[in-house]
Amino acid sequence: MAALRNWAGNVTFAAREVHRPADEESLRRLVAASSRLRVLGSGHSFSPVADTDGDLVVLDQMPADVDLDTATGVVRVAAGLRYGDVVERLHAAGRALPSMGSLPHICVAGAAATGTHGSGDGNQVLGASVVGLRLVTADGDVLDVGADDPRLPGAVVSLGTLGVVTHLDLATVPTYDLTQTVLEGLPLDALDDHLDDVMAAGYSVSVFTTWGPERRAAVWCKRLVDAEPLPEGWLGTTPADGARHPVPGEAADHATQQLGEPGPWFARLPHFRLEFTPSVGEELQSEWLVPRGQAVAALRAVAGLADLVHPVLAVSELRSIAADGLWLSPAEGRDSLGVHFTWVPDTERVLPVVEALEEALAPFAARPHWGKVFRAEPAAVQALYPRLDDFRELRRSLDPTATFGNAFTARYVD
Ligand SMILES: Cc1cc2nc3c(=O)[nH]c(=O)nc-3n(C[C@H](O)[C@H](O)[C@H](O)COP(=O)(O)OP(=O)(O)OC[C@H]3O[C@@H](n4cnc5c(N)ncnc54)[C@H](O)[C@@H]3O)c2cc1C
Repeated sequence: MAALRNWAGNVTFAAREVHRPADEESLRRLVAASSRLRVLGSGHSFSPVADTDGDLVVLDQMPADVDLDTATGVVRVAAGLRYGDVVERLHAAGRALPSMGSLPHICVAGAAATGTHGSGDGNQVLGASVVGLRLVTADGDVLDVGADDPRLPGAVVSLGTLGVVTHLDLATVPTYDLTQTVLEGLPLDALDDHLDDVMAAGYSVSVFTTWGPERRAAVWCKRLVDAEPLPEGWLGTTPADGARHPVPGEAADHATQQLGEPGPWFARLPHFRLEFTPSVGEELQSEWLVPRGQAVAALRAVAGLADLVHPVLAVSELRSIAADGLWLSPAEGRDSLGVHFTWVPDTERVLPVVEALEEALAPFAARPHWGKVFRAEPAAVQALYPRLDDFRELRRSLDPTATFGNAFTARYVD
């Protein structure tokens, strides 16, 4: 069998066996019989967070449940489903999710487990919609963690360490339409004085730049259809004269509809369409979340490394994420700015730049995205999570023999 790799190809999983249980009973037996087991979602993480040297479980053969409770608006989804498998059914029932990541290809449980996020001053990480989850724990038992369970805020961003999540209950909102417009030519210096204005310019806003010598950015504005239009020439920008891809030079047909045409939330919030390869396809990614109050200073620190960053970069993206209470969420307890980097697929050249960025961003309490490439020492990362001890206690109570651990989680959270 060919070695199993993550989407980016930079992690080769060391699993001794890959399992695809087709129902909960088989999954329970499998878990009870294993001393070392992890779940692989859709494999879109760039860090070795999903790896194991034991049994790797893939949930794509499990029943594809999407059960909406129309009275409460809560939808119970099978953990292995991709957002793209869920969103149209929600929309058809008049419901929506408040936020999505840049791509609908990732699975719901994998996104929750790593604190994956989209953008928007009022939008939290995707896992913040989780109001309940169902786990198979180390002894093969099933545990339902409900909305009132004090363990829920610890169990959502779990890095896969508490058990196999089989279902997630997601709170939904009434469905809504958005437009997407790309505004080009924002001078990077404008972020010094206008970062808050830029991030407030839409329901969900992404700022893309290459940190190149032209020192400009493109603002991807996803706006509610009844939002007041932005003034002409807003902050020195011009509306794009055609469809764009976030990465300069890449084919725009991979990207979701732009040019101000209204459409449902799930067809505008992600940048990439489900039927196409998202992003560049051959790349590495890193991201750090900094507190909003320190975001301008953090961006200046990044700008100071532009000569290092630009040569190994496809594009950088800035997004805003509202604070949440999920213990291991990178936005826990603080409104944040996500400072993201899509790198060229060259680990040797990229890692020294990642290290330089970490050093420059350390004074701003930058928390690395769990699913992307970072190098920080465990002690430095652990110091950024005030609820880590609570998480450790939860982990010990649910998984005392560390069945669901791996080298990455042993290093960063155990
Ligand atoms: C092109 C691209 C674009 C991206 N865009 C964004 C973005 O916009 N925003 C952002 O924040 N991130 C983004 N990411 C990162 C990505 O969202 C995260 O890495 C996310 O975790 C991927 O989900 P996955 O299902 O592929 O998880 P995997 O990489 O498969 O797994 C991640 C973790 O989840 C655990 N897990 C998965 N399923 C279960 C389960 N059922 N039970 C228990 N544990 C489970 C795994 O064990 C592992 O620890 C992007 C990645 C790519 C490749």
